[in-house]
Amino acid sequence: MTINLSNNYQALGDNFSEQTFPAPVAAPSLLLWNESLAKTLTIPFSQKDDAELITQYFSGNQLIEGSKPVAQAYSGHQFGNFNPHLGDGRAHLLGDIADTEGQRWDIQLKGSGVSSFSRQGDGRCALGPALREYVMSEAMFALGVPTTRCLAVVTTGENVYRERPFDGAVVTRVATSHIRVGTFQYFAARNDTDSLKKLTNYAINRHFPELLVEAQAAKTPNPDDKAIADDISSEQVLKFFSAVLSKQIPLVLSWLRVGFIHGVLNTDNTTISGETIDYGPCAMMNIYDSDTVFSSIDRDGRYAFGKQIGIMQWNMTRLAETLLPLVASDEDDAVAKIEPLLTQFHQDLQQGYLTMMAAKVGINTPEQGDAELLNDLLAIMQKQKLDYTHTFTALTNTLNNGQIEAPLNDVLNEWLPRWHARIEPFKAAAHTLMVSTNPVVIPRNHHVEALLASCQATGDLSGLHKFLAVLQQPYTEVTDTKHYQDAPVDGDESYHTYCGT
Ligand code: AMP
Ligand code: MG
Repeated sequence: MTINLSNNYQALGDNFSEQTFPAPVAAPSLLLWNESLAKTLTIPFSQKDDAELITQYFSGNQLIEGSKPVAQAYSGHQFGNFNPHLGDGRAHLLGDIADTEGQRWDIQLKGSGVSSFSRQGDGRCALGPALREYVMSEAMFALGVPTTRCLAVVTTGENVYRERPFDGAVVTRVATSHIRVGTFQYFAARNDTDSLKKLTNYAINRHFPELLVEAQAAKTPNPDDKAIADDISSEQVLKFFSAVLSKQIPLVLSWLRVGFIHGVLNTDNTTISGETIDYGPCAMMNIYDSDTVFSSIDRDGRYAFGKQIGIMQWNMTRLAETLLPLVASDEDDAVAKIEPLLTQFHQDLQQGYLTMMAAKVGINTPEQGDAELLNDLLAIMQKQKLDYTHTFTALTNTLNNGQIEAPLNDVLNEWLPRWHARIEPFKAAAHTLMVSTNPVVIPRNHHVEALLASCQATGDLSGLHKFLAVLQQPYTEVTDTKHYQDAPVDGDESYHTYCGT
């Protein structure tokens, strides 16, 4: 029984990462093991039969055979300010593994000890944030949002000191890669064009093998196992950038669809694969308000719910800047070539937003007047302080039973007939579309927090498992769904999230 790890990122060279071993922990104990993810990754362990081995491997106490752990180097704009020295300060990339479809995934321990990137940090992770990452990323996955996932949570038997001592944990994060906008910024900041080229080629191999010339791809059935080319054409770089942009569109639009607020959308927390990463201060919106912010450190609302499209464009512009030297030796030439892609990205996001929101009210192909219909709805929701998830569920149900409950009937009394008239010709299709677009349950902040608190206080995970089972089917009402649909009594008015470090 083995885990078939490769070390493709490690092979890029010493300037991409630092070789460093996870720091062993005192008394590891397995809390959560993601059995279905393990299966997808062809990891042949079950919690029932292999708990001891899983615990040893995913606490960092024992090295998986073939693993060459590293801390990855990256920079990043944090709240708009560039920090050239970030990198994995508490994470170890163990290696990468191919899933049943041949897609490769990075396996990374988080909370596994310090590296040269740790700065003042202790390299550790508290149990609460580790559980939160597990719950939120599993919920997002089931919601159809592109995301990194969690394979395991192991408690360490050691305390982690934040504002007070907490139980420590190591969480195993799985991502199609951990390449961030900040990874490109790291090399750009050092004027290291050769490494930028190598990184771009690596990213193409990993994420966009379709960009490799057909003949070349045909020769290498597993593109990750081939040597990464040193050089790259300007055309290929532009194609790569375009492909990265196209990955960010479904990402940010699905956040907006389900009411997710990332909370710390720094460039080091923006993957080029378009997966949600870093579940530190994230939260779900209750009452619709585009200015919603829960993060205690986001005082200016830079990462508010409704700003996420704009921030993604800002982050992609930072990525574009790093690629300029690869596009043309003359900067103006390079800008002239890359700018149209950002303009197109802007347009695609605007169009995509309209299409996504239209789908939430059952319209498959938005037409003239639909933007106004939607804006009017959102304006009512904001003014009347309506719950985002609940309102769309209620609208969906009207197509079944013709009824809408109070007070929605009252506040939407002028809007509802307009909407019903619009979708009348295709009501059945509208209903189907709405059912698959609007979740009936999301990981509401108050439920997440209550469950994390009780797990930590009692060590009993049964409530968490019940919650996770409901979150697995967010578009279907199962028996227990009703226990998790309620909006918080105070609208989460005093709810604050923290970076979770
Ligand atoms: P994050 O806020 O998780 O995106 O982390 C930002 C940066 O801080 C990254 O370079 C992390 O590796 C680093 N960092 C966060 N928490 C810790 C910690 N407890 N110990 C060391 N480094 C950390
Ligand atoms: Mg981060």
